Amino acid sequence: MEKLYRPDPIPFSSPALAPLLSRLAALYEKMDQAYRQAAGDYGFQCTGCRDNCCRTVFHHHTHLEYYYLLKGVATAGEERRRTFRRRAAEACRAQAAGGRQAGYMCPLNDDGPCGLYGHRTMICRLHGLPHHFIRPDGQMVRGPGCALFTERYGHMDYVPLDRTPLYRELAELEWDFRSAFGVDPRRRLKLTIAQMLVDENPGICEEEEP
Ligand code: SF4
Repeated sequence: MEKLYRPDPIPFSSPALAPLLSRLAALYEKMDQAYRQAAGDYGFQCTGCRDNCCRTVFHHHTHLEYYYLLKGVATAGEERRRTFRRRAAEACRAQAAGGRQAGYMCPLNDDGPCGLYGHRTMICRLHGLPHHFIRPDGQMVRGPGCALFTERYGHMDYVPLDRTPLYRELAELEWDFRSAFGVDPRRRLKLTIAQMLVDENPGICEEEEP
């Protein structure tokens, strides 16, 4: 088991951090636009799903997304913060007991809708539609849509949703963050949303899965 790495707090007003968070907000808007465009072309609507994708345990890998999410939490009211953190602790316990397959609900989910929609992460914005991207070695990778998409729209021709420029821009932003804050380029960040949020007893989320 590896010790979990969680970055140190940085004031959101930090002159170096604020412009990077603004650039990430602009990139998120591009992601939302790309998703809306492709979803519109299919006529796809994310409703009536039996398996809420917020139950899928994703890991997030950039400092900037981490701070962006925490900024959203910081601007939520005290009551909301307590709720998010309580759920995060429960999710961490579920993960410790059952591993990644535990399939617990994201601690930000309010029994259906996302409780921090404007601050949700990249994967939350792009999940559900078939897509492709070009790896740095030039190889193209294709990804399927979610189960609901496949059931209802899987017969349709692929509407290109190229994640390459979105991934690339996020990687550039992360590079700029690491340069501005002197983070070792080899330092690996890998956190679930629950691991980002839990605070009172971080020990319950301290270990990464092997
Ligand atoms: S951040 Fe929001 S959209 Fe993303 S998994 Fe959590 S509740 Fe769902």
